[in-house]
Amino acid sequence: MTDISRRALLKYTGTGLAVAASGLLVVGTASTAQAASAVAKPTILTRAQWGARAPKHPTTVLNRKPDRIVVHHTDTANTTDYSLAHAKSLSRSIQNHHMDTNGWDDVGQHFTNSRGGYLLEGRDKTLPSVAQHKLVQGAQVSGHNDHTIGIENEGHYTSVLPPAAQWNALVKLCAYLCDQYGLDPKVAIRGHRDFNATECPGDALYAKLPALRTAVAKVLG
Ligand SMILES: [Zn+2]
Repeated sequence: MTDISRRALLKYTGTGLAVAASGLLVVGTASTAQAASAVAKPTILTRAQWGARAPKHPTTVLNRKPDRIVVHHTDTANTTDYSLAHAKSLSRSIQNHHMDTNGWDDVGQHFTNSRGGYLLEGRDKTLPSVAQHKLVQGAQVSGHNDHTIGIENEGHYTSVLPPAAQWNALVKLCAYLCDQYGLDPKVAIRGHRDFNATECPGDALYAKLPALRTAVAKVLG
């Protein structure tokens, strides 16, 4: 399914049966529909798919859910290369910077969202940990890495907004994370500047966070 979340669809159908836009036949009562509800997992490239290096030390997986989703911008150029190849290259470049320049164990953030709207796994073990409702300890918000999960959006958003594809990918990823972790988007979605002294994720994108929360809530139904 694309923009119609499974939860929203099932909620809409209520009891009985209905045929979704995709042609999928949905049958069930409200209770079974609720049990089956889940936001569709967006396509997220694994580390193997973008050619990640191994972390320097074993990754720490916390046996808890995050309570905040942190939105960042990469503060890099607003490229017009929206290709998959660029998205993979971006992830490798961020990892090299974080490991070789910053001296970190691995990529700092949990997810990368390219300007072309490609979503990529960041820190090691992130995808399986989300599925298990656990949190990989990242390096993306100083002093708050034990309770937050972070998304780096490629670009510089002080005065311009992300392209539509990137925005849509951000909405889908946030909805998926809220669903997996049982988070209320109105409370959970925050900007990096809410935690640290930084202009990240840029004035323009930060001003759009209320719209992001609303869009994610709509997907969640
Ligand atoms: Zn940031």
